[in-house]
Amino acid sequence: MKAYLDNAATTLVCPEALKVINEHSKVNYGNPSSLHSWGRIAKKSLELSRISVSSLIGAESNDLIFTSSGTESDNLAIKGLAAHYKGGHIITSKIEHPAVIEPCKYLEKNGFDVSYIPVDEYGIININKLENAIRGDTFLISVMHANNEIGTIQPIKKIGQIAKKNDILFHTDAVQTAGKIPLDVNDNNIDLLSISSHKLHGPKGVGALFIRKGVKLSPLMHGGGHEHKLRPSTENVAGIVGFSKAFEIATKNMEKNISHMSKLRDKLIKEIQKIDQAYLTGHPTNRLPNNASFYFKGIEGESMILMLDDKNIGASTGSACSSKKLQASHVLLAIGVKQEDAHGSLRLTLSRYSTQEEVDYVLNVLPNVIAELRTISPLWN
Ligand code: PLP
Repeated sequence: MKAYLDNAATTLVCPEALKVINEHSKVNYGNPSSLHSWGRIAKKSLELSRISVSSLIGAESNDLIFTSSGTESDNLAIKGLAAHYKGGHIITSKIEHPAVIEPCKYLEKNGFDVSYIPVDEYGIININKLENAIRGDTFLISVMHANNEIGTIQPIKKIGQIAKKNDILFHTDAVQTAGKIPLDVNDNNIDLLSISSHKLHGPKGVGALFIRKGVKLSPLMHGGGHEHKLRPSTENVAGIVGFSKAFEIATKNMEKNISHMSKLRDKLIKEIQKIDQAYLTGHPTNRLPNNASFYFKGIEGESMILMLDDKNIGASTGSACSSKKLQASHVLLAIGVKQEDAHGSLRLTLSRYSTQEEVDYVLNVLPNVIAELRTISPLWN
């Protein structure tokens, strides 16, 4: 038996996407900038994909560009916008993905101020603190739609309203939500929105950035005039059509997928909390339908992942061994989990392809893995 429950890390490419990727790699492989028929066919596929992806988030096709990843979209939104300001202030949250935190840190070294707004024990941003942080020179609020580690969904509608009222641009990293829960740029007053293909059953190395009409960005790279002069380099047409197809399929069956994944998620949450000193992380209900995340007292995360892997279970932990020092997840620390407990975190993330059998298998194996690790843990008595 095998169980892949690491779909927040990446997903299986769906067969519908594979089909169009194949077609655009083998037959319609032209360069969309070329004038001949190969080029025109590729250009048409590219523009149809742009129409499709933008319509799935309620946007105009002119307001969307394709990038190489969620990371690039986040960087372009933040640094590309900051390039139009000589210093100034950005507001973000303490639990953003590094693709947002690192560009913010980079800007801090280059004359900008950044406020990292705290979250509550469930990972929900403190709206009062966000409002109070606004200054005369605040030009951007960047808050993720849902967190990749604990699955908590942020009140982006409220944040969008605050941003609009104060004449500040609003960026959201929707990498973990696109194709999983409803998403509309107009309903939420979003000015910039990042998506990644490989989290929604599309191929890796493709992303998109929605840029509301009138918002001025500078490119991060310099070269040709592709993607509204914002992202030079020949477009990855095969990847983009695959992304577009995957997003279309995910959105078409969204209701059904939400119901399927939530049922499995709720079973994981209910059963895993029965393990001695196992704690749910993230909001009990206001969370992604595919995310079940926990920490266990007296457990070292990486050993747990390796033992699960030994049983053919793919999962992840927020704990990472870097430069010989165990680093606890900044997200878990921000929700108030103690440093030593944060090392025992486990993230199980489902997809629409996840099965009841996979979940039952994990529920069967996990208590034994925890028990075994605790027999050798210096943190467990
Ligand atoms: N933002 C969030 C919330 C993510 O979870 C990830 C990937 O884990 C990214 C950004 C980066 O996306 P990509 O892998 O496409 O660069």
